[in-house]
Amino acid sequence: MSFNLPEGWEAVIGLEIHIQVKTSTKAFCSCSSDYFGKEPNTNVCPICLGHPGTLPVPNVEHLRKAIAFARAVGCSIRRTVKFDRKNYFYPDLPKGYQITQYDEPIGYEGEIKLVSGKKIRVKRVHMEEDTGKIVYAGGDRMADSDAALIDYNRAGIPLIEVVSEADMRTPEEAVWYARQIQYTARVLGVSDADMEKGSMRVDVNVSVRKVGESGFRTKTEIKNLNSFRSLREALEYEIKRQIDVWESKERVENVTMLWDEKKRVTRPMRGKEGEADYRYFPEPDILRLDVPEEIMRSVGEILSNFKSPFEVWNEFSKIGLAEKERIFLIENPEVVEFIHQVYEEFGDGFEKNRKKIVSAVLNYAVPKGFVAESTHLACSFAAALKLWFSKKVEKEGFSKLLDLLKKEKGEVDVDRAEKIATEKGLIISSDVDEGELIKEIEKIVNSFPDKLEAYKSGKKQLFGFFMGQVMQKFRGKVPGSEVQKLLRQVLDGR
Ligand SMILES: [Zn+2]
Repeated sequence: MSFNLPEGWEAVIGLEIHIQVKTSTKAFCSCSSDYFGKEPNTNVCPICLGHPGTLPVPNVEHLRKAIAFARAVGCSIRRTVKFDRKNYFYPDLPKGYQITQYDEPIGYEGEIKLVSGKKIRVKRVHMEEDTGKIVYAGGDRMADSDAALIDYNRAGIPLIEVVSEADMRTPEEAVWYARQIQYTARVLGVSDADMEKGSMRVDVNVSVRKVGESGFRTKTEIKNLNSFRSLREALEYEIKRQIDVWESKERVENVTMLWDEKKRVTRPMRGKEGEADYRYFPEPDILRLDVPEEIMRSVGEILSNFKSPFEVWNEFSKIGLAEKERIFLIENPEVVEFIHQVYEEFGDGFEKNRKKIVSAVLNYAVPKGFVAESTHLACSFAAALKLWFSKKVEKEGFSKLLDLLKKEKGEVDVDRAEKIATEKGLIISSDVDEGELIKEIEKIVNSFPDKLEAYKSGKKQLFGFFMGQVMQKFRGKVPGSEVQKLLRQVLDGR
């Protein structure tokens, strides 16, 4: 799992991440942003197709979310918005240029703390629009196909691009950085940041150098990595490749590479364009605009409850949650949100039950679909937890009760949950008549004379068998520990 750089070498890694911003309409026209799965070229209009004479109109929601995200990663915010044209010809770009931000990104000079505590500088966060999509018929790249088809449904979808400084030194750090950017976009509602669907796309710049060397050697860029695993593996491969090149006294070339998912190798795609190739100039169709005060206020609201991934990681480290589970939480911020709601609904005493609550959420609420459904379930979940923690229901009863509560409309409080549990016979009776119980247990045990004989002559592992038989009758009614104690009395006479 862990990747070791050859002795004396280090890697220099920077990430450029494109994130599709959740808005109702595209960045500069009124087409829907919900293009996924639509019939090709049905989600388009003269503006996003770049017809002559049309004019783009900036999208307030795009601006609001770009600012919220930039603030969350520690950026300073520019109070005027300026757009630029990036000119290049590519068939998926109907206008022949992309509207982006060149010299005045909306957010600049930020910084995030990786969960390890290492700081990574965020150079800039800027707004731009997405391109269309080329679909290669008969293969996933040009060389394998007979034809390239173009779908413009995605053209003009609002994006933010998040550019880091080259502060990462290992593939592990790069993966953590990307994971934390994803968390931030998700928890703020900026994007679902789904790498498989392409709503978050990672490009990486990487070079290597001797430890202690100042300055940078030539870097390569690897485009469109669509999972954390690909990001890690592509970096590991490319770092080793570059070190081999330098060690065999050759030179690394400045190229853009693709990660071949099947062969698991990087290969060159094209020579790298320089900035001069793009002939950036200020977008003449959109005037500079001041960020309205109202937007800054609503950004403040979006950020009011924001906790950075670093803070969330520490919060769950403190209660002793395993690393694997913490990684799961960072990749699933909606679960973190649910946990916080359950804390709140649980009320008094949640502090000393934190770890038990988190474990219950991971083991029951997540698999039973409580998190995905709706927020009222946090209240019902907390109610069931209270019955469990106060030993009114057992583990099995708790699980059954959750299935019942999930079907209830609206919030269920403890009293109502207890009533439902009582109706369904899930409440453990507190005044167990031991004599009666022992009689019942003896009856069950005696109905297996062969096994009982074997047990008495030393086959003690049969205890589990008897326990299973007995619990079939008492599960959810009598605490398991009580049954176990009495069963020992019956079998061993003590
Ligand atoms: Zn449009």
